[in-house]
Amino acid sequence: QAKRGGRGSVQVFHKSMDAAVHGQLHLETRLRHALDSGGLHLHYQPQVDAGTGDLLGFEALVRWTDARLGLVAPARFVPLAEEAGLIGQLGAWVLDEACRQAAAWDLRVPIAVNVSALEVAQEDFTQRVHDTLRRHGLDGGQLKLEITERLTVQDLQRVARQLAQVQALGVQLSLDDFGTGQSSVSTLLQLPLNELKLDRSLITGVAESPIEQRVVGALIGLGRSLNLTVIVEGVETPGQLQALRELGCGAVQGYLVGRPGPASMWTPQLGGPLPLELPERGGAEGGE
Ligand code: C2E
Ligand code: MG
Ligand code: MG
Ligand code: MG
Repeated sequence: QAKRGGRGSVQVFHKSMDAAVHGQLHLETRLRHALDSGGLHLHYQPQVDAGTGDLLGFEALVRWTDARLGLVAPARFVPLAEEAGLIGQLGAWVLDEACRQAAAWDLRVPIAVNVSALEVAQEDFTQRVHDTLRRHGLDGGQLKLEITERLTVQDLQRVARQLAQVQALGVQLSLDDFGTGQSSVSTLLQLPLNELKLDRSLITGVAESPIEQRVVGALIGLGRSLNLTVIVEGVETPGQLQALRELGCGAVQGYLVGRPGPASMWTPQLGGPLPLELPERGGAEGGE
């Protein structure tokens, strides 16, 4: 009797598996199409000095709007690209486009590009970064790479070697999503880095939670003791910004400062007076 029931559930399981696998394959086909036909674009989000609002950089974030599927989130298609062996092609496109834009803007601050450790592990990564910088006439210092370790990379030492070569070009290296399972203290110990980027999940309650304040304060101290700049992502409220300033946070990024948008949205502001406007120190939230 167990067998009969079992077979029934196996069939149901297979059907939903089929649907899931079919969905993934379909998505993969569409992604390949987008990669081959110029279907991706980039949005940019400012990174600013937490105290003054001075622009410190722009993070490039990939966007994909498929004609049939609509907007697909990077959280969905970047991991798919990694699994389907498309991350090299995706990453090469993002790097080239971000560098093209940085050159067009003639920024004095770096453009930050997300790379997965899997991509960095590829044989030609260092060469690709070097060639892309040269193609667009950029110095290494005009580029920052934000590294995430979504999949476990077998050979983190190799990643570290490649990153050291890229760093030697003057490129800044940031460990993204620090404080989540994807980005740990052991990664911090093994990679050459210039910046620590605290994940937004760490600061959601930082305005009111004493324990979050202590944890974030300790992580800022950790970064400082390692001579790393510390940037906090996902800052949405004046209360969070105020708390982060009091904890000695140097740099922030988030909807409060500016939402990611196409380059055309930022170009007019770059011609005008910087810094971008930040809420007053202590402003509506009281404080100091
Ligand atoms: P990430 O690098 O940690 O990027 C930050 C994410 O938080 C972005 O989501 C951004 O749009 C979002 N964000 C920024 N400010 C706020 C805020 O104040 N509140 C909230 N709730 N969210 C905020 P997005 O663009 O959906 O990207 C998700 C992830 O996908 C990125 O996380 C990154 O890991 C990956 N990704 C994005 N673009 C690329 C890319 O070009 N290459 C690679 N390899 N990965 C990418
Ligand atoms: Mg990032
Ligand atoms: Mg991040
Ligand atoms: Mg994140």
